[in-house]
Amino acid sequence: MLLKTDNICTNYGAVEAIRNINMYVEEGEVVAFIGHNGAGKTTLLKTISGLLRPVKGTVTWMGENITGRPPEKIVRAGISQCPEGRQVFAESTVYQNMEMGAYTRKDKQAIREDIEKYEEIFPILKERRSQKAGLLSGGEQQMLAIARSLMSRPKLLMLDEPSLGLAPVVVNDVYDVIQKIKQQGVTILLVEQNAMKALEVSDRAYVISTGEIALEGKSEELLQNDAVKKAYLGG
Ligand code: ATP
Repeated sequence: MLLKTDNICTNYGAVEAIRNINMYVEEGEVVAFIGHNGAGKTTLLKTISGLLRPVKGTVTWMGENITGRPPEKIVRAGISQCPEGRQVFAESTVYQNMEMGAYTRKDKQAIREDIEKYEEIFPILKERRSQKAGLLSGGEQQMLAIARSLMSRPKLLMLDEPSLGLAPVVVNDVYDVIQKIKQQGVTILLVEQNAMKALEVSDRAYVISTGEIALEGKSEELLQNDAVKKAYLGG
């Protein structure tokens, strides 16, 4: 097992954002967390990536307890988080953004080769290579943010709401790219309000509601589940 959490609870002051989260991710899987706005999805990712410290519970990564380790050490251990809202470096070029994603690495030649590899997967990033990232459209910035996260060669890529704020046709483009990354064998933990897209691309999923896991199972089964259909798939 690559990642596992046991009884994770994370608070903001008096606000209990997530409670007793037990989940796992196996190597090669795509696992989704679906839930409405404010359900606790981002809090879970931030707790795994070390940006938040849980008040209770443990995060286990490749058999080791990493709870409370600083984010930089967690990136070096192989977990990369692609943040909600993309957060590209607007004043830097597309190419420089990708280079920055490799800040934990020193192998310059391999970094160049990886950038070329991702320029093949995301052709728009090749076209826009020398442009400032702030001039890209929302969908293009999302592609760049994903490519930048991959540049650290993570063992686990965590994607926070990749569809957020994008037009439906652009959401499809972003998910085509996620599908391609999945085919390359990258393990992915995805959190999404767009349950349909997340369930279509993932192998397994958890439904999170007001900070707790309400349901879990194979994504293809959750797509057929009446409660999931009603609450998350528009009936
Ligand atoms: P979204 O998609 O809107 O980010 P989410 O499912 O990721 O939703 P979280 O952002 O994890 O949800 O928020 C979980 C709960 O914690 C919500 O009730 C939210 O209001 C609360 N919360 C989030 N950040 C803070 C904060 N910095 N201070 C206080 N409460 C917060």
